[in-house]
Amino acid sequence: MTFNFSAGPAMLPPEVIEQIRADLPEWHWRGVGQGASVMELSHRGRAFEELIAEAEADLRALLAIPANYRVLFMQGGAWGQFAAVPLNLLREDEVAAYAVTGGWSESAAKEAARFGRIEIVARGEAPGYTTIPPRSAWAAFPERLAYVALCSNETVHGNEIHDLAAFARDLPAPLVVDASSHFLSRPMPVAECGLIYAGAQKNVGPAGVTIVIVREDLLGRSGRVIPSVLDYAVMAKANSLFNTPPTFAIYAVALTLQWIKRQGGLAAMEARAIERSQALYAAIDRSRLFRAPVAPAFRSRMNVVFETGDPARDAAFVRFAEARGLSGLKGHRSRGGLRASIYNAMPMAGVEALIAAIEAFEAGEAQHG
Ligand SMILES: *Cc1c(COP(=O)(O)O)cnc(C)c1O
Repeated sequence: MTFNFSAGPAMLPPEVIEQIRADLPEWHWRGVGQGASVMELSHRGRAFEELIAEAEADLRALLAIPANYRVLFMQGGAWGQFAAVPLNLLREDEVAAYAVTGGWSESAAKEAARFGRIEIVARGEAPGYTTIPPRSAWAAFPERLAYVALCSNETVHGNEIHDLAAFARDLPAPLVVDASSHFLSRPMPVAECGLIYAGAQKNVGPAGVTIVIVREDLLGRSGRVIPSVLDYAVMAKANSLFNTPPTFAIYAVALTLQWIKRQGGLAAMEARAIERSQALYAAIDRSRLFRAPVAPAFRSRMNVVFETGDPARDAAFVRFAEARGLSGLKGHRSRGGLRASIYNAMPMAGVEALIAAIEAFEAGEAQHG
């Protein structure tokens, strides 16, 4: 048995992989063979149009998305959204506020600065980003504020905003959230946010599709000329079928949404995420060799960052774990150390195997000095 702790593209539920296998070479939609795989069929065909509509309906039900929000299936990844957000929302005479709480929000702010004026209103402490500045510690918002952007789960540094509603409260402008790496691991206060986006390949599917949930009044807000494929108004008008969408990726996301529903929805996902992450952090905190640097109140349930403090030992642990069938534990290249990504699809057995590896490695190190 092997367990894949990759941060993304990440493991999918085995049931989803089995369903994909069963749908090859011929896709069956609602029990009817389509004569080809989903990869080989028109996105304008009835089956695919029903599939994407069902995926949207499932997503709306899971997240309780209000009727005045549009759901878009886009391409270009979260990086595409780093640009699409200012292009769609930021007028020439306005300023966007960014909270930088880790590597991804830093990249989002830098990319946005290429397309308009931004101001950093909160900055976590680099290089570790082991805490997240609360709203009360943020700088005053600039005049002519277009939106406020943050990343609710920093995949590289392993911190997570656990009370997003508190960050959204009393903002003078819409909140824009990069939720890529914890999307659908917990309920979200969608109605408190202006826009939420997530690349699928962390928690809800394969690479190639990015989900955008945007409040209707923000469509076309900037009045700027933007590439049609990045234009929320264009994509919304076409129900995400403006041009050829990533059909296979959307199909796999649809299967994953059905899987989440069968498991009991986001309450079940959240309960499991709490169980997995608490067990793993507790084991790291017990250890005298490993440590988890992120302060407990800000620890991510999805991306558990840990380290020995010695890069050679971290590398030795990666090899030790690989030999036990545990892959993907090397920290992000920008940060080093170790990282276990334990998304929705990771079973508790995987976490238990990792804890056993941590304990066995530590016992071996103690023996050999
Ligand atoms: C992975 C990730 C990104 C980048 O996603 P791409 O699909 O590679 O563009 C951005 N933000 C967060 C939080 C991520 O986890």
